[in-house]
Amino acid sequence: MRKPLIAGNWKLNKTINESQQLSRQLLESLGTVSNREIVIAPVFTALNAVSEIIKSSSILLAAQNCYPATTGAFTGELSPLFLQDAGCQYVIIGHSERRQLLHETNAFINQKLIGVIQAGLKPILCIGETLQQREDGQMLEILGQQIKEGLVDLTTDQMATVVIAYEPIWAIGTGKTASSEQAQEAHAYIRSLLQEIFNSSVAEQTRILYGGSVKPDNIDTLMAQTDIDGALVGGASLKAEDFVRIVRFL
Ligand code: 13P
Repeated sequence: MRKPLIAGNWKLNKTINESQQLSRQLLESLGTVSNREIVIAPVFTALNAVSEIIKSSSILLAAQNCYPATTGAFTGELSPLFLQDAGCQYVIIGHSERRQLLHETNAFINQKLIGVIQAGLKPILCIGETLQQREDGQMLEILGQQIKEGLVDLTTDQMATVVIAYEPIWAIGTGKTASSEQAQEAHAYIRSLLQEIFNSSVAEQTRILYGGSVKPDNIDTLMAQTDIDGALVGGASLKAEDFVRIVRFL
């Protein structure tokens, strides 16, 4: 059985103080939630402060990015080692905003993924197509490329730590959620690719999250789909009340 995972990607929002406040609000209103994993991803500068607040709770910490080296002459970068030092268990890799704004390639994303796993952290690999690619009938090809090139050289053992997030770019921050059928179709395809590249147990065990305008009012229908194992939430993770409702999906 795949344990559902709800992750909040705070993106470039919330100062250290605000991040601490939001984390405390989450702790207060969450109560005990069993049978699902909860992850929050504040900005780098707030990681350690948030880690101190959530460390004895069931909420886990993620960074939003990393660099594939460990230490050395890499001015301005942060490696998985330092993210672990700040209290992280997860790292979001290859978010579409980074692919688009910072031109991250599948090969670079693959290096980061391997670095994250080697440091003992768990990667959340983001993939997804643009509206143009979907309308041009290239969706499956693009997802296939992102999965195959992103997961090159990973062993089946290493795959046990990987979470995939399907985030159609046209649904991010737009208020347009993919319908649950559209999301299910993409997720089933991604799972079939995992079977093709690795084997059926990897396909069966890997959690595939949906991301893109996830809100309290659409989470239940999304989570009812066979191949949707959780959500990567942007905007709605910035309000404790909304995020808690999403975590408490039915
Ligand atoms: P929104 O939930 O704001 O659409 O963002 C989704 C996302 O990009 C999460 O990583």
